Amino acid sequence: MSVNVAQYKHLLQELKPSGTTLIAVSKTKPNEDLLGLYAEGQKDFGENYVQELMAKAEALPKDIRWHFIGHLQSNKIKYIASFVHLIHGVDSMKLLEAINKEGKKIDRKINCLLQVHIAQEETKFGFDLQEALAAAQTIFQGEPLSHVVVCGLMGMASFSEDEEQVRKEFQALKSLFDKIKNLEGAPATFDTLSMGMSGDYRMAIEEGSNMVRVGSLLFGARNYPNA
Ligand SMILES: *Cc1c(COP(=O)(O)O)cnc(C)c1O
Repeated sequence: MSVNVAQYKHLLQELKPSGTTLIAVSKTKPNEDLLGLYAEGQKDFGENYVQELMAKAEALPKDIRWHFIGHLQSNKIKYIASFVHLIHGVDSMKLLEAINKEGKKIDRKINCLLQVHIAQEETKFGFDLQEALAAAQTIFQGEPLSHVVVCGLMGMASFSEDEEQVRKEFQALKSLFDKIKNLEGAPATFDTLSMGMSGDYRMAIEEGSNMVRVGSLLFGARNYPNA
């Protein structure tokens, strides 16, 4: 087992003053590693791949809250719709509508975050800032979507040594988050700002994050790329 329990406890202490929620990102890691943190009380786990998430949800304790943090394809929503706690990576209105449709089928409201592209890299998915604002206006002021709850925003900063660049990206996302919160029609349940990973969570919290997604710091480096 390669989970670092001391690091986990240390991290929890660090997050406590700000009340930040920790998502333990367990993609590619074996069930025993997740159980190692579960035994310490961790309930929120993040996964990127639908197949892997399904297998883990099947095998592991039922009170785990599963966060889907990867890129979700519409045709795979049905596999996780019945149990996923929060889908972080909703990057189009089309996907949100497809999730709503699946929710309707099983009469479950599915929690979602809009993913916003804040990084310089071309490869990261998401709405750009303007599109996300427009989407939020549509969601909160247009025809209501009955089976999704849009709980907030998610973003990934540039993978960069340039701290000022990363900080600027977090600030841009926080300022968008505040703007959307204050939109007419925005519900009180729009309250989650998921930003910050192993390398930048401290800065993300300084800039207003209230949910961090931390993987390698807890579980060690991952074995396969694109993970
Ligand atoms: C893998 C991943 C993380 C965790 O990354 P670490 O650098 O290992 O903490 C967080 N968020 C997303 C969306 C990821 O894909």
